[in-house]
Amino acid sequence: MKSFEAVELYFNRAADQLELTDNMRKLLLTAKREVQVQIAVEMDNGELQTLIGYRVQHDNARGPMKGGLRFHHEVDLDEVRSLASLMTWKTAVVNIPYGGAKGGVAVDVRKLSERELERITRKFVDELHDVIGPDTDIPAPDMGTNAEVMAWIMNQHNKYHGFNPGVVTGKPVEHYGIPGREEATGRGVGILSLKTVGRLGHRPQNTRVAIQGFGNVGSHAATFLHAADCKIVAISDVSGGYYKEDGINIPEAIRYANEHRHSLEGFSGAEKISNDSLLELDVELLIPAALGGVITAENAAQIRAPLIVEAANAPVRPDADEMLAERGVTILPDILANAGGVTVSYFEWVQNRQYYSWGLDRVRQELERVMTCAFEETWELARERDISLRTAAFMLGISRVGRATVLAGIT
Ligand code: GLU
Repeated sequence: MKSFEAVELYFNRAADQLELTDNMRKLLLTAKREVQVQIAVEMDNGELQTLIGYRVQHDNARGPMKGGLRFHHEVDLDEVRSLASLMTWKTAVVNIPYGGAKGGVAVDVRKLSERELERITRKFVDELHDVIGPDTDIPAPDMGTNAEVMAWIMNQHNKYHGFNPGVVTGKPVEHYGIPGREEATGRGVGILSLKTVGRLGHRPQNTRVAIQGFGNVGSHAATFLHAADCKIVAISDVSGGYYKEDGINIPEAIRYANEHRHSLEGFSGAEKISNDSLLELDVELLIPAALGGVITAENAAQIRAPLIVEAANAPVRPDADEMLAERGVTILPDILANAGGVTVSYFEWVQNRQYYSWGLDRVRQELERVMTCAFEETWELARERDISLRTAAFMLGISRVGRATVLAGIT
């Protein structure tokens, strides 16, 4: 099943509950605009490379379109389209005044030098600058991009349109960014993980956690849950999985990764296991925080965790979702669980527009408030209708976008 088909399936489950007409479904699922551009760049060795970049602007009924920019070799139009649609439902679930968009460039960032990365980013903005902007579409970091890339985007866009830091979020704190943006997605995952653990009748001290992916999201979720007394028994990255029965020392693992070019390769504070076996560990909480599509019909039966919190976008394939639901596994869906990033992006954009700086305490407090409110609403709806948290979150998102669309007047 392709990525967009998977989102469509989840969408339709919620649309059935909402009794949406076929015409309304088609309107809400179709992207407003899909742009594909050529990115021709000169590499450090003098060779010419032609890359393909995408920006899918899915919906703007509730505000400017918003979503990350992914640099990854597996990026294609179908994936970007599915992620753009997820952003629309995500911003609506947490009720921030945005629509949804997503961009991507099909490139392996690990093979790029810093200068090549900068040239690709600036060239991408050269091709796209007319369709993005603080009131239309605001990019942000995603896989393979970071605060530095966002600074280049702002700088390049401003060359065409004049100074306006609100054109992009996730910028460096020293360069129009906001404190707490980098940790925000992982922190949001941590906050809602604890809430769900509590609802399921567990205490943090008795919660063993396995986290797949130790990038920005996975490492910050680990830090938060470790500080909350959960036992992080396994972490992983592309170099493999790392397991320790009585809990990994997370600050030590982070220090190690920072000193080794963001890799856990060679980390001796835990026993080495495979990435696949990490997913199948006997834990209370499993957090996929890497690529999409890692939990499939092939491995779903082996998963032992009673709770999965989707820190990554679309980590559970629909057939696996069904198998896990039958076994009573609770899944906190991506559009709610990982919405902390875009929520703090919103605060950054507000800060940029008001020229008034926020402190870290205020960011964290507001993040917790927004995430908690969305969680309570989703949980309540799921209980009321006896549906999954995913279908409830989609229902909340779809109904808010549908209502705004109708209020504005469709034709
Ligand atoms: N890329 C992140 C996401 O998937 C953040 C998007 C944003 O901050 O706009 O939610």
